[in-house]
Amino acid sequence: MLRISDIHSYYGDTHVLYSVSLEVNKDEIVCILGRNGAGKTTTIKTIMGYVRHKVGKIFFKDIDISSLTTYERVKLGIGYVPEDRRIFADLSVEENLEVVHNYRKGKWTKEVLFDLFPILKRLAGKRGGSLSGGEQQILAIARALASNPSFLILDEPCEGLAPVIVDQLLDIISSVRNEITILFSEQNYYFATEVAERVYIIEKGQIKYESSIKELMENEEIKRNLLAV
Ligand code: ATP
Repeated sequence: MLRISDIHSYYGDTHVLYSVSLEVNKDEIVCILGRNGAGKTTTIKTIMGYVRHKVGKIFFKDIDISSLTTYERVKLGIGYVPEDRRIFADLSVEENLEVVHNYRKGKWTKEVLFDLFPILKRLAGKRGGSLSGGEQQILAIARALASNPSFLILDEPCEGLAPVIVDQLLDIISSVRNEITILFSEQNYYFATEVAERVYIIEKGQIKYESSIKELMENEEIKRNLLAV
């Protein structure tokens, strides 16, 4: 469904990604795991078109999206939850969902999302900016689904969340995992093992390892050397 091949990305003159290739098949859940500064966010921003790559190709549903704008990529069906969530702080929870849903119709209506995430129904009238970090993360995921994507990208969904909220996030992902293909980035090895089916490990802007999550869990050397687990 998504295939990126031999990507080199830069911030100005600074070379950050080196020949990154990965793919996500339909209905899979794939994780990009790596430590701080390894290149996870840059990989995701390159897929979304926020960071331009100088070499390599990105295909989504067999369409070369390498030169499309972010807006065009979203229109093709990619939902994106950025690391900083970017909730509309001055809109209510309900309005955060409506704004996006009005933009493309589909099965993830506000009512369906309220059923799936009852906490958002309880918070419907509250300002986005007044929510806790965990509530904002749940709203950010719901808002991405409200755009009715076929593919969901989450950038470090656990970051800054208390363990009890991370457990709620696991439940949320479990409840949508059969409905959508997901690529997410993480530093949290344990979260990754609970959610992902396949994993890529990135370090210093290069993919250093790829396998099923089961193989990674059994590979003590890789865990120790690349993840310090
Ligand atoms: P984190 O877990 O801290 O978010 P990450 O794996 O997502 O880390 P990136 O944010 O992709 O890593 O950063 C990869 C490299 O690119 C790092 O060396 C970082 O310092 C550098 N970098 C990130 N953003 C910029 C920027 N706007 N300008 C220049 N260099 C940047």
